[in-house]
Amino acid sequence: MERHLSVVAVGGGPANLAFAVAVEEMAPDLAGETLLVERHDDIAWQRGMLLPWTVSQVSFLKDLATLRNPRSRYSFVNYLHSTGRLDGFVNLGSAVPFRLEVSAYLQWVAKSLERVQVEYGRAVTAIEPLSSRDDGVLDRWRVRFDTGEVVRCRDVVIGIGRAPRVPAPFRDLPEERVLHSTAFAGRLPLLDPQAVRRVVVIGGAQSAAEMLWTMYQRFPAAECRMLMRSAGLRCYESSAFTNELYYPSFVDQFHAGSAEARAQLLQEMHRTNYAGLAPGMLDALYRQMYQDRLTGTERITMRTLTDVLDARTDGDEVVLTVHDRLRATTEEIRADLVLLGTGFEPEKPELIRRTAAAVGVRDVAVDRNYRLVTPDSVTAGCYLQGVNEESHGIADSLISVLAVRAGEMVTDLLAHRATRPALAATAAADGGPIRGEDA
Ligand SMILES: Cc1cc2nc3c(=O)[nH]c(=O)nc-3n(C[C@H](O)[C@H](O)[C@H](O)COP(=O)(O)OP(=O)(O)OC[C@H]3O[C@@H](n4cnc5c(N)ncnc54)[C@H](O)[C@@H]3O)c2cc1C
Repeated sequence: MERHLSVVAVGGGPANLAFAVAVEEMAPDLAGETLLVERHDDIAWQRGMLLPWTVSQVSFLKDLATLRNPRSRYSFVNYLHSTGRLDGFVNLGSAVPFRLEVSAYLQWVAKSLERVQVEYGRAVTAIEPLSSRDDGVLDRWRVRFDTGEVVRCRDVVIGIGRAPRVPAPFRDLPEERVLHSTAFAGRLPLLDPQAVRRVVVIGGAQSAAEMLWTMYQRFPAAECRMLMRSAGLRCYESSAFTNELYYPSFVDQFHAGSAEARAQLLQEMHRTNYAGLAPGMLDALYRQMYQDRLTGTERITMRTLTDVLDARTDGDEVVLTVHDRLRATTEEIRADLVLLGTGFEPEKPELIRRTAAAVGVRDVAVDRNYRLVTPDSVTAGCYLQGVNEESHGIADSLISVLAVRAGEMVTDLLAHRATRPALAATAAADGGPIRGEDA
């Protein structure tokens, strides 16, 4: 049997939790008809890299609500207050919480929601348009889950992050030997220190460095090698001036800018968010390597300007064929474990592409309010979160803009509904009243 709801938010990450908070605060009736679904059995922030010592890179004030509604009960400060840690956090003297604490805050928000239903342990596998009207206008979505369940709704909000990028040479290798960063923290306790003596980390950005550091600390007998295509590790290139481009208010300017200006902004801002390390991480690694050289106990090596041409298994080993572009040499490196700090696929996730294709859209684009641009024959709304960097700027995949963006989406969703035909005709065509829709 199909359930009928008003809105289905796919994915229980920060983006859709911010949306859920905004719906509760701005449209309580709609919130009671909204379902948020998460494929895992709980909420966690970046669970693959949820390492105890890692910290968020943004201020705690950029939480799920404060920049939109500083009086929100869903603020990070209220979370700290309700868990008795406000004094302690203030005393810490840091604006950037531990990742673990951000993750716990997200769980607290999900549990504190009063009207939005949150369901776990089911992944959305397809979102199909359908018509409940005589004229064939596509005004509904049918959302399919891997459990076989089906939900029908008027609007969907897709906030599922991006797919891990696994470079071609590694795609067919076993998970016991080759791990992407998104699976790292979950597998770490299962790794056998006796069997993991040679670790190779691929990549030169923050996640790669965090994995290298963790392996170095937790596996005292392991040789830890880092292979990167770049000339060497470097810091994020940020300043208070370029940080202004992460303001939610900058989205308007970016969106209205010329294609050339946007491209320049994205190119110049790339190193403020990608392909760099936090200063503390860079410093810790360099100092450790220096100290190890002093004591003759070197276990970390870094290979720069290096490409992995091929990867295969040989018994329990992974054999990498690597090319050093500076020395113009090619050699084999053997490892017990390869860790991929190779980031995420730049293209939009498959679920989004399939949903768009189902309504005749090949080039996926959203309007200023994050609503998928569709033909006129489609009135069902589909909002996309976190995948609109080209049109909305460098902060689109980050926490910085979530609170304000969620408010903009709720405002647009309500306005868009007001322009759509009355429900009476649609319910009749659907074979009966559609519960949970259009009071
Ligand atoms: C290691 C790491 C550290 C980061 N640190 C920061 C930081 O400090 N500050 C910052 O601003 N940004 C940071 N980011 C960027 C990050 O993208 C954002 O912080 C934020 O997580 C984006 O939220 P999201 O909800 O869009 O996506 P995600 O956090 O990826 O959440 C998506 C959710 O959807 C679920 N899901 C996926 N597919 C389905 C499906 N088919 N059905 C149901 N559920 C599904 C996933 O399980 C997940 O819970 C970091 C990213 C990484 C990888």
